[in-house]
Amino acid sequence: MSSAVSLEVGGDGVLVATMNLPGRPMNVVGDTLMEGIAQACAKLADPAVKGMILTSGKADFCAGGDLDRMSQWSKPEEPFEGSMAMKKVLRQLELQGKPVVAAINGHALGGGLEIALACHARIAIDDARLKLGQPEVKLGLLPGGGGTVRLPRLVGIQAALQICGEGNDIAPAKAREMGLVADLAKDRDELMAKARAWIAANPKAKQPWDQPKFRFPGGDSRTPAVAQMWAIAPSVASQKTWGNYPAVRHIMSSIFEGGLLDFEAASVVESRYFAACVMSQESKNMINTLWFQLNAIKKGASRPAGVPASKVGRLGILGAGMMGGGIAYVSAKAGIDVVLLDTTQEAADKGKAYSQGLLDKAVKKGRSTAEKRDALLAKIQATTRYEDLAGCDLVIEAVFEDRAVKADVTKKAESVLAADKVFASNTSTLPITGLAKASARPQNFIGLHFFSPVDKMPLVEIIVGQATSEQTLARAFDYVAQIGKTPIVVNDSRGFYTSRVFATYVMEGIAMLKEGVHPRSIEVAGLQAGMPMPPLALQDEVSLSLSMHVQEQTKKDLAAEGRTLPEHPGTGVIRQLVEVGRIGKKAGKGFYDYGDDGKALWPELTRLYPTAAQQPAQREMIDRLMFAQANEAARCYEEGVLRSVADANIGSIFGWGFAPFHGGALQFINAMGARAFVERSRGLAAKFGPRFEPAAVVVKMAESGGRFSDAA
Ligand code: NAD
Repeated sequence: MSSAVSLEVGGDGVLVATMNLPGRPMNVVGDTLMEGIAQACAKLADPAVKGMILTSGKADFCAGGDLDRMSQWSKPEEPFEGSMAMKKVLRQLELQGKPVVAAINGHALGGGLEIALACHARIAIDDARLKLGQPEVKLGLLPGGGGTVRLPRLVGIQAALQICGEGNDIAPAKAREMGLVADLAKDRDELMAKARAWIAANPKAKQPWDQPKFRFPGGDSRTPAVAQMWAIAPSVASQKTWGNYPAVRHIMSSIFEGGLLDFEAASVVESRYFAACVMSQESKNMINTLWFQLNAIKKGASRPAGVPASKVGRLGILGAGMMGGGIAYVSAKAGIDVVLLDTTQEAADKGKAYSQGLLDKAVKKGRSTAEKRDALLAKIQATTRYEDLAGCDLVIEAVFEDRAVKADVTKKAESVLAADKVFASNTSTLPITGLAKASARPQNFIGLHFFSPVDKMPLVEIIVGQATSEQTLARAFDYVAQIGKTPIVVNDSRGFYTSRVFATYVMEGIAMLKEGVHPRSIEVAGLQAGMPMPPLALQDEVSLSLSMHVQEQTKKDLAAEGRTLPEHPGTGVIRQLVEVGRIGKKAGKGFYDYGDDGKALWPELTRLYPTAAQQPAQREMIDRLMFAQANEAARCYEEGVLRSVADANIGSIFGWGFAPFHGGALQFINAMGARAFVERSRGLAAKFGPRFEPAAVVVKMAESGGRFSDAA
């Protein structure tokens, strides 16, 4: 008996094969699990066995491929052969001539769903939290265990394209609707009973694609309606991805070609595309950052060890504006009692009304109930009285970005707060060490930088001031995890990490405008680079007046320290637009005009900054936008603002949408190699200015052959 899949034949002759990979919290597809399934298959051949139920002994059915193993593959033959070996076992399973049912007791994702697809029927527990799907594309991969071959033959080419190309989770009820699962069960007992009944009713089960008269539901790739879809799908995909995600292209090719071929040939084609995905730099980048580094962060790599875990029961929020209102919502949602304070009751109530608005919408859409909404709202107390902060474990201030106002509320809150509790500032620009001067307990003072809109953005940047204690950091970290967000930890500095690096992207785009690059080309370059928003539109969102204000404040602060900074070439452009009242989207005018029909580039821009006769190559513009960010991130690393490579990469993707296929701002440098980065940076510096001079840390790596790594 295999240790990965336990086998038990019941009195009714049904073999129950239970996947339970030893030593791992989840079942993952790899040699061990597939050997277990092969042994189950051999047992199924026993004449006394009538059929088989494949289920799991863990909370999930099977979570997907073993990424540890995949990341060790270095030659394309390895993924190709690995994928073909898995398919051989699954083919044996479905060609035994005996019914096999997947009893899906928990998540069946990626390779897990592919195993279930090789069973003759799938029955799942009807729990809305249970996820089915092929999320491989999100890590730059393609389902290599027959997903792009069986799904089109089961639910049709278009639905398969959506499942594999978008990688979204499918809830059991929806899966039933689309024919992905045959039936639903309310609990494990009913699941097993229904699986047994299916076996009894279908003693000679055969897959649809192994029937002589098989036809693709909705038609194969030649069918006119499908062929028409194929004429459009690649354009739609490239509009979304700008061609930056080869996996999307490979998935389309595999499904298209598979839709012209027989099952066996389609399977080989899929394995070839799978190998191409595994070997791509894009999948290496995404697996490195969005899997390994993200998991390291979630496991607390940046949290001081040795401080006991903590939970916030009661939270105080000062300032019930856009940020305070959002922080109140996400915290109450995590079960925390919230005291939301502002200068007037009306302002405090308005902050609470933000939650009401979000919840009303959720109730209307059927995603929540009136009872749940009321229970959550009851957790938020809107007030003007500091006494109400008594008993809070943590207070977060989100008042105006003004040192004096922040100092005032810090003192008032601390007078009520117990001596061992934490006080956090949600400032976006003011150094934490300076703000902590207003505190009687600077060791308990920390930065918790949320992103707007708080309910949607996954990241919180934790900023450690000079006096912040390890205990305070650990507590802040635990709170961020408690509300389901991803924390990165950085040391104090002007603009911290995210605002500082993000600004280089926007400013580089604006500098191009000044040089005479057509504004539309700048915007297209931003999107082609893989950024979620182009630079000029993004500056409008942030507001030009806010950026102006921050830059002036920085200049003043530096002057007080006897320092000056060379002005970025984009600064003059912002000043000029602010002077004519074009302060951004909130005023209805910035680089764009905003009207009822949407936005359009301000026609006067090309008069103010005449378009040069010679326009630069798009590649050069993309490089400028990306090198500016990566180089600034490297400087943050060199200066010790960043404490880890994982925080740098995850912070860049989750914080400001740094093109995910590059795997983050420092992985961008690793992927191309320090030497190539230094060379290209020097070329850009010669042409566009010293801001492109490569960070010393990368120059050193180029000489020594090193790379950014958290490995000790
Ligand atoms: P906002 O103007 O929407 O809200 C500020 C709130 O603070 C207002 O309701 C105001 O009445 C209240 N307030 C002012 N003085 C107060 C006092 N003495 N006591 C109690 N309440 C007071 O501003 P916001 O956008 O929510 O920003 C708040 C903070 O968060 C700022 O420090 C800002 O830099 C930071 N921040 C903002 C963003 C963003 O995108 N807006 C992102 C990250 C951080």
